[in-house]
Amino acid sequence: MNTPTGFRVNTKLLTNLCAVDGCGLAVPKTLLMCGNHWVQVPAPLQRRVLTTYHALPSKNLAAVAAYRQAVELAKQAVQAKAQRAAA
Ligand SMILES: [Zn+2]
Repeated sequence: MNTPTGFRVNTKLLTNLCAVDGCGLAVPKTLLMCGNHWVQVPAPLQRRVLTTYHALPSKNLAAVAAYRQAVELAKQAVQAKAQRAAA
């Protein structure tokens, strides 16, 4: 499989799609978003996503909720940036 940029990708590692609606790019299962979208997430929000993700193995419902909230905020940050760019 080739990505739009031409890099060869090991498809066995690709089990997720980028979390941004409408992107559809396959990403390794350890990643939330494709690189193009992840770099649009503000750094403090990137840290929040990663911190809450690493707290997930505790199987604590509050940890899951915190991670989901961080993911939602990251997606909203990308969408807001796209809307500003389109305006
Ligand atoms: Zn993407």
